[in-house]
Amino acid sequence: MADARIVVLGAGFGGLELATDLSERLGNDAGVTLIDENDAFVFGYSKLDVMFGRATLDEVRLPYADFDKPGVHFLSETITAIDPEARRVTTNLGVHEADILVVALGADYDFDATPGLAEAGSEFYSLTGAERLRDVLPTFTRGRAIVGVCGAPFKCPPAPSEAALLLHDYLSRRGVRGDCEISLVMPFGTPVPPSPDTSAALLAAFTERGIEFVPGRRVASLDAAHSVAVLDDGAELPYDLFLGVPKHRAPRVVLESGMAEDGYVPVDSRTLETRFPNVYALGDVATVGVPKAGVFSEGAARVVAMSIVAHLQGGEQSAAYDGRGACYVEFGAGRVGRVDVDFLSGPKPTGTFQEPSGDLVAEKQQFGASRRARWFNRGAL
Ligand SMILES: Cc1cc2nc3c(=O)[nH]c(=O)nc-3n(C[C@H](O)[C@H](O)[C@H](O)COP(=O)(O)OP(=O)(O)OC[C@H]3O[C@@H](n4cnc5c(N)ncnc54)[C@H](O)[C@@H]3O)c2cc1C
Repeated sequence: MADARIVVLGAGFGGLELATDLSERLGNDAGVTLIDENDAFVFGYSKLDVMFGRATLDEVRLPYADFDKPGVHFLSETITAIDPEARRVTTNLGVHEADILVVALGADYDFDATPGLAEAGSEFYSLTGAERLRDVLPTFTRGRAIVGVCGAPFKCPPAPSEAALLLHDYLSRRGVRGDCEISLVMPFGTPVPPSPDTSAALLAAFTERGIEFVPGRRVASLDAAHSVAVLDDGAELPYDLFLGVPKHRAPRVVLESGMAEDGYVPVDSRTLETRFPNVYALGDVATVGVPKAGVFSEGAARVVAMSIVAHLQGGEQSAAYDGRGACYVEFGAGRVGRVDVDFLSGPKPTGTFQEPSGDLVAEKQQFGASRRARWFNRGAL
């Protein structure tokens, strides 16, 4: 297919990698239009850095103005409608027709699904929320802090555990840990179900630090006026500080497109194809059978890039998506662990765990630095 119009919706982990990969493979002729409504990309884990005052928003923003790849045209527009049958995308500024359409719009937050959450204004999964909590945290000196998950699936399953451990460090540094309790409410039975070793290490870290783990429960609502979290079994947990993980769903424009089922876009896990011809969906917006994390969006993007090139150049589709990825897990005390998970190669997901260490702190930094360099031509922070 000569001069194919490839339209990629969303310049997050998946969209950035896909556009970069296509640019490398097809050069000036790539014919890629990449659309995002934001003016900058931010790594998910940077929200923890912002919340705990380890970095400012300016330090973690990677402006799309620096994303400059041959054959890729970036458009700063808000997508308002997607017609997957016609492969037509409407934005606030116009209409884009595609020969190949890739939906990589991520997962959005459904604040209304948890009554009281918006009113309490205390979640750390959006940048606005992380910034707001950065200003609230210094005022917390005694009482109970709850890190509370409001629904599954949610992005980066280890992140709530990381938040609890980093909160422990933060309060210890300020000399008020002894006057504070920390509880972690999580809808899973263990912190990271696919990796029993990672879960065991996290549970041991919670015990060592006196962090209460409340498994198999989610926060169903908040009574913000009385500072009480109500769990899905009706139990009431009073709090003085709430660090919430909102319920997720696909962005509204995706739900309204007719592509979604049960909140996300179903795809063939091996190829990321949707049921619409020449329309792919990858990353957090899709139901792939892997967790919602950047490393998985990125891996899926590489498979889609190969598939598009094979389609355009008439070759065979070679690799199938394997659902493998490595996640770094902040344990606090200047240490990071690593879990390597494999979701699709075998009959059931498997994970291997590397004990937290200082070396893995450097490796995590390198993970971020390599993406900054690859996508944004940036050096170290
Ligand atoms: C606290 C926290 C910690 C995390 N830690 C890690 C980690 O250590 N490792 C890891 O791999 N992952 C981590 N994640 C998860 C990771 O950030 C996401 O899973 C990843 O960004 C998903 O990539 P994606 O490309 O699917 O979607 P996203 O990166 O979310 O990109 C979607 C893009 O679509 C755009 N968009 C959406 N709607 C519209 C619209 N209507 N019009 C135009 N543009 C639109 C958005 O602006 C966004 O840029 C973390 C997440 C959080 C919240």
